Amino acid sequence: MKITWNTDIYCLIGHPISKTLSPIIHNSFYKLINANNIYLTFDVEKRDLETIINSFKILNIKGFNVTLPHKISIIKYLDDISEEAKIIGAINTVKNKNGKLIGHNTDGIGFLKSLELEGIDIKDRNILILGSGGAANAISVSVSMAGAKKIFISNRTLAKAEKLTKRIKKQFPEIAIEYGDLELKNVPKNEIDMVINCTSVGMYPKIHEAPIEFQGFSKNLIVYDLIYKPRKTKLIKMAQRRGYRTVGGLSMLINQALCSQNIWIENKNYNFANNFEKIRRILDTYVE
Ligand code: NAP
Repeated sequence: MKITWNTDIYCLIGHPISKTLSPIIHNSFYKLINANNIYLTFDVEKRDLETIINSFKILNIKGFNVTLPHKISIIKYLDDISEEAKIIGAINTVKNKNGKLIGHNTDGIGFLKSLELEGIDIKDRNILILGSGGAANAISVSVSMAGAKKIFISNRTLAKAEKLTKRIKKQFPEIAIEYGDLELKNVPKNEIDMVINCTSVGMYPKIHEAPIEFQGFSKNLIVYDLIYKPRKTKLIKMAQRRGYRTVGGLSMLINQALCSQNIWIENKNYNFANNFEKIRRILDTYVE
């Protein structure tokens, strides 16, 4: 990588941000497209957020990603936010457009892009979403936008599932949506086409846990686990033992990063799917 006086700076802010794969993904992408850009990470605590955002404007940082705990609190410091980010209610990507900071959310579109690359169509499908945190919010919106027929939201804390269900019902009145807990007593399991794990159950270091059992689901079930560390979660292993098709979280991680790049970089003279595949291969050496 060659750093010059006019290298454009992009970055990630969050707290904590140790061990994030984002710099590897973004800097590999810059190398692939031969861009004079660099992607860094900054550990930013809540109390410093406003100062940092103002400094980014002064330093002309061209764009940045936002992760926990700032995905919602950053909104008040931005000049505008995209329609999708408004519906999701959280930001993961900010573009500096001539000094104005515009917030976006690429989690949902990154998820849909990963389905597209896998050749999976969720239109008119029945989807079971596990979890009701930040990721579940973005995924429920994108699944609704993609035309799912019926959505079930199941979460450990019922009140959070209820809140998310009400939000989706308000934004997408045409979609049938129900909520419940992780025992899934209200879910007609054999009618579910896809289960999407948006909980953190199974994530490193708690790798021996799974959020649900698979009794009663149809043999054509697709299981998508957003967790990418470990690559094969307990849930994915359980699903594979039953012969279900599975997708792991690494694909979404790379796709949401490439969707951020699509927002930041005006000249899109590159092949999205090609770069996805090359970056996936690079990450093979980093994630077991
Ligand atoms: P979050 O906002 O903290 O939400 C965590 C969710 O997990 C909540 O629904 C929580 O339920 C549930 N949960 C946590 N511990 C649990 C337990 N012991 N039993 C049952 N449920 C439990 O986190 P997030 O940002 O949504 O992220 C969730 C997961 O998605 C993480 O593993 C993250 O790495 C992954 N993710 C992946 C990508 C990607 O690109 N692949 C992107 C975003 C997130 P309660 O409401 O009851 O607390």
